[in-house]
Amino acid sequence: MAHIRYRAIIKVLCGECQAKVNENKRIDVKCPNCSFKKYQNVNNLLSFNSFITKAFPNWIWFNIYEYKKGELGALLKSFQRGKNEPTAKTL
Ligand SMILES: [Zn+2]
Repeated sequence: MAHIRYRAIIKVLCGECQAKVNENKRIDVKCPNCSFKKYQNVNNLLSFNSFITKAFPNWIWFNIYEYKKGELGALLKSFQRGKNEPTAKTL
């Protein structure tokens, strides 16, 4: 079986946007203080999910892409904090 490898892009909210989410208020999706983190070698979605929850407590969503050398592969799936988190190691 081929080794599973995905790329991931995570959106991490700034403190101000996180506070708005906590109050169910709208956030500016282009807020310059929020950040994106990229990972190139994700092979277990469950451990990746627990890792980012510890490392970036304000993550709000992440996208999983197929891994392609030198380019962003196709978007495979989007996950949302508290609503649609991974339930299996792979897609
Ligand atoms: Zn923000």
